[in-house]
Amino acid sequence: MSSTSLITITTVTRIDVIVLGSGAAGLVAALAAARDGARVVLLEKGDLIGGTTAYSSGVVWLPVHPLRADLQGHDARAEALRYLGALSHGMTRPERVEAFVDGSPDLVRWLHERTQVRLRVVEGFPDYHPEEPGGRCGGGRSLEPDLFEMGRLGVHADRLVGTPRRMLVAETPTGGGSGILPPEVVAQRQQAGVEGLGRALVGALLASCLEAGVEVRPRTRATVLTRRNGRVTGVRLADGEALAAARGVVLATGGFEQDRDLVRAFLRGPMSDPPGVATNTGDGLRMAMRVGAALENMREAWWVPVTRLPEGDSYGGRGVHLVLRERTLPRSIMVNGQGRRFANEAANYNALGGAFHQLDPTSFGYANQPCWLLLDQGFVDRYGGFGAPPGGPLPSTVRNCSDLAGLARMIDVPSDALEETVDRWNRAVAAGRDGDFRRGESAYDGWCGDQTRYPGPGATLGPLDEPPFHAVPVVSSALGTSGGPTTGPDGEVLDVDGNVVEGLYAAGNVTAAPTGMVYGGAGGTLGPALVMGMLAGRAAAR
Ligand SMILES: Cc1cc2nc3c(=O)[nH]c(=O)nc-3n(C[C@H](O)[C@H](O)[C@H](O)COP(=O)(O)OP(=O)(O)OC[C@H]3O[C@@H](n4cnc5c(N)ncnc54)[C@H](O)[C@@H]3O)c2cc1C
Repeated sequence: MSSTSLITITTVTRIDVIVLGSGAAGLVAALAAARDGARVVLLEKGDLIGGTTAYSSGVVWLPVHPLRADLQGHDARAEALRYLGALSHGMTRPERVEAFVDGSPDLVRWLHERTQVRLRVVEGFPDYHPEEPGGRCGGGRSLEPDLFEMGRLGVHADRLVGTPRRMLVAETPTGGGSGILPPEVVAQRQQAGVEGLGRALVGALLASCLEAGVEVRPRTRATVLTRRNGRVTGVRLADGEALAAARGVVLATGGFEQDRDLVRAFLRGPMSDPPGVATNTGDGLRMAMRVGAALENMREAWWVPVTRLPEGDSYGGRGVHLVLRERTLPRSIMVNGQGRRFANEAANYNALGGAFHQLDPTSFGYANQPCWLLLDQGFVDRYGGFGAPPGGPLPSTVRNCSDLAGLARMIDVPSDALEETVDRWNRAVAAGRDGDFRRGESAYDGWCGDQTRYPGPGATLGPLDEPPFHAVPVVSSALGTSGGPTTGPDGEVLDVDGNVVEGLYAAGNVTAAPTGMVYGGAGGTLGPALVMGMLAGRAAAR
């Protein structure tokens, strides 16, 4: 092996634990195992470290934690379980939900005491279903990593997925901030090599892994689990090399969103253009299936509406833009091919997946795909959108017309229906109430909207009355899939008969999410990934 393909301080000669994947779940599992005395090797298929986690905002939803007095103790635990239970639709297992909730405060304490990761509350960020029993309108459960000095990674600082973003979530418009920092702060952070968001989380975890003696090997793809007498004893790599693990193997290979066959086999509805890393092709799922793992939650993913941008953007330069603020800010609505609104546009992105998967029994077509986001010029002048500042310019994929009838023809929807829809919407805005889909009623709805009008429906309700009008095609996508091998409370993989597959653990998007189809709040995927990763790493080291 060439030294450039190895990220290490010490080279592990006899391996106790092998971890597959260098996203949040894999890094924390490797770190937990190493801190508990195991000799750990972490294998990463991609050229760079961090997986989709490095592209992410790094927000971590932990329903119970020690950073807020009101989120500790018996009552906080009961509220968390009530909340996740109210939303579960019977798709979760109590022992796994409890493992996540009970592991949450433990994770924060352990990270702060034993690692370089520091988490802080994103103040005010409401849960994604805050009015449900146990939900929180005033936030407190969404945490984010502190800014991290990449220099602490030494020569490994340029081996992370993604590009530098030198902000805290709390400073960005999605976290309640303005997105604008004083020039001296920007210059200071640039000079200090300080970063925030997903790369800060990955950076701090990687630095801690290196400090703990974990050997990290990028460009190393595991393809097969090796076994003796039913027990998983190691892995075989794509180049044929075999590596033995004395104590266990942890799967943390992310989801299967980039594999068309697996997507076709399992997901419940349309999903295209996933914005995460290209290497998440379900390798871990296939490895687990080969050793007889039971599967759960397979139709589910962390859904998100996206649009394709021609010029490329920060998410890996693959030109996929997450449509979040653009459908939440005032002066925008979404319509389907019939020119009709079909959902509360400002609802959380994961829940909107359900609307995109609605099948019309008469036409036997998906009722809300294709879908268009409509904006008026007032939106563009005030907010910009798609990465552009107020005033634009909008991407070239956006269709524009001075009147709604002309725009309807351009996007092939009935013009009378579109005009009627906009007229109805404008009347609802004037009345201050969306009687059709209740947009603006939840404390979550306006949070990512116009913060100068938050709280209140004005943060998300606004008329479309300033021409020209703009239409943006929106498709149903996913941040990652959320189904996979069933695990027990310590991340141990269970087989189709419910028995433990000895020596095999899993965490993160490769496995069935402990919260089922529930995205509890901002950070709803990374929270469970970190907690279950920590528990799996500890268990593998035992
Ligand atoms: C733009 C964006 C923003 C997001 N923001 C947030 C947020 O703020 N909060 C939140 O909770 N979620 C967020 N998400 C979702 C979140 O990033 C993912 O759900 C999470 O990172 C999954 O973590 P993971 O460790 O399971 O997988 P990943 O981080 O994807 O890591 C999996 C790794 O496994 C590697 N791998 C795959 N196969 C193999 C193999 N055979 N051998 C070795 N390695 C392998 C992959 O290359 C990859 O590096 C966001 C997603 C996107 C795209």
